[in-house]
Amino acid sequence: MHAEVYEWFNIGFDIFGRTPTTQQTDIAQDIFTKLYKNGFLEEQETTQPYCETHNSFLADRFVEGECPLCAYEDARGDQCDKCGHLLDPLELKKPRCKLDGATPVAKKTKHIYLLLDKLQAQVEEWSAKSSKEGAWSSNGIHITNSWLQEGLKPRGITRDLKWGTKVPLDGYDEKVLYVWFDACIGYVSITANYTDQWQKWWHNPENVSLYQFMGKDNVPFHTVVFPSSQLGTGDKWTMLNHLSTTEYLNYEQGKFSKSRGIGVFGTNAKETGIPSDVWRYYLLSRRPETGDTEFEWTGFINSNNNELLKNLGNFVNRIVKYVNSAVYEGVVPDYTKYDDSEGIIAAHKKEVNEALKEYLATMDAVKIRQGLQAAMHISYLGNKFLQDNKLDNALAKEQPERCAAVAGLALNHVHLLASIIAPYMPSTTSAILEQLNTTLLIIPDDWQGDSITPNHKLGEAAHLFQQIKPEKEKEWREMFGGDEAKKAKAEKEAKAAAKKADKEKKKAKKEAERAKAKLAKDAGKSVESAEKDGAESPSAGDAIEEVTEGIKQAALQTS
Ligand SMILES: [Zn+2]
Ligand SMILES: [Zn+2]
Repeated sequence: MHAEVYEWFNIGFDIFGRTPTTQQTDIAQDIFTKLYKNGFLEEQETTQPYCETHNSFLADRFVEGECPLCAYEDARGDQCDKCGHLLDPLELKKPRCKLDGATPVAKKTKHIYLLLDKLQAQVEEWSAKSSKEGAWSSNGIHITNSWLQEGLKPRGITRDLKWGTKVPLDGYDEKVLYVWFDACIGYVSITANYTDQWQKWWHNPENVSLYQFMGKDNVPFHTVVFPSSQLGTGDKWTMLNHLSTTEYLNYEQGKFSKSRGIGVFGTNAKETGIPSDVWRYYLLSRRPETGDTEFEWTGFINSNNNELLKNLGNFVNRIVKYVNSAVYEGVVPDYTKYDDSEGIIAAHKKEVNEALKEYLATMDAVKIRQGLQAAMHISYLGNKFLQDNKLDNALAKEQPERCAAVAGLALNHVHLLASIIAPYMPSTTSAILEQLNTTLLIIPDDWQGDSITPNHKLGEAAHLFQQIKPEKEKEWREMFGGDEAKKAKAEKEAKAAAKKADKEKKKAKKEAERAKAKLAKDAGKSVESAEKDGAESPSAGDAIEEVTEGIKQAALQTS
């Protein structure tokens, strides 16, 4: 299912893998064994609930019972859903096995602990260096430092489960490696599934930089736990270099919730019938890089109608259509003859190059949202260039060389733009290249604007984006809102309505006062005739209602 969603979104992978593979077993066990030999693993005895009915130790959430704090009867072993307190499964009153209802007994068992405390100094030194060199995002640094400041403690890395990577130690047949130790090793083993040359990637820190992207809740596993495992082996590893972590994306002022059906998820995006590029654009333009951001249908529609269509879509369409018109009949004119004595061509190139520099700098720094802003600014500059130079039939007739220079540069600008937006909107890039009848331009450090040469034949002009009708907002909100979002919306609307009514009352009051004054002045004119006079106007009835309402209020206030 995930693979299908990624495919629809045009997200490419060299390999999309999972952890249950022999490579995972080999590599995880190798890391485990080295840690063991180097003295970073330790066996500790713990007491855990054991079900004698199905002969197994029970993971915390497989024990249920009465909460010792609030007496809720269906509390889970790890947490009480009613009072929210974290629990130890052995604290539960009247505990029962979730599978068969039997009463678990406390039984001693052994587990392997990773001695993170013994690795703390090494991890600290490494993360201080890497976070600086790799310019980690600030929340990534913050979360890592708070773990380190609190002091690392030994953590159990084995569990009593049937599925998972086997523990390569005698007496551990019934146990597997715990997921938070195992999962990050998946990056390595999935590479090993892709190529038997995987060591060239993972044991080559001089030549390989590891970039990782994640939500903030996953940070400690990537900046503390996995690096500790790597360092503890004593091997030379490629370790995390750049960390890009995000805050949360909220949905319409609330939280996304898959279980309550609130929000739009990967599989739903396709159902809206809106192309994936528009989704990619909207989501990346709201990527929560520095703080939480909101998914809002209004914003979604606006970004299509006002940003993509009016800025990018218009620019590309206008110039491709113009060159395809009777003026040039689809053939790129010779734009090299214009002398540019006013410097309009040079000035535009300069402006674009400055914006391009900004784009490249943000992309190098993995500021993805800012990079998109920079790209859209370059698109805006293209629009502005066409407007400032009034590209029309008159220009072609009166100043043909200047017209050719403007058209030629604008087409080259479009060519550059296609490459710049490619990471964000790959299908749009393909569509533009088809219209330009050319291939992808390697983004230059210094743009010359001559990649599309005179006499090149263009493809057909076509619209890149379609207008989204405003009524879609309501439809989608009903489809994906969930009851809570609907309730919140109703409350918001009620508030807005009350505010509006309040405003109208105030307005009516003012009008009533004016009307009163007027009535006092034209004492002879009757209300009936006023009504008659206004009969043609559609708002006359409303106005009179407002006036009467206003008079009532004015009367109440003055009495
Ligand atoms: Zn049981
Ligand atoms: Zn409780």
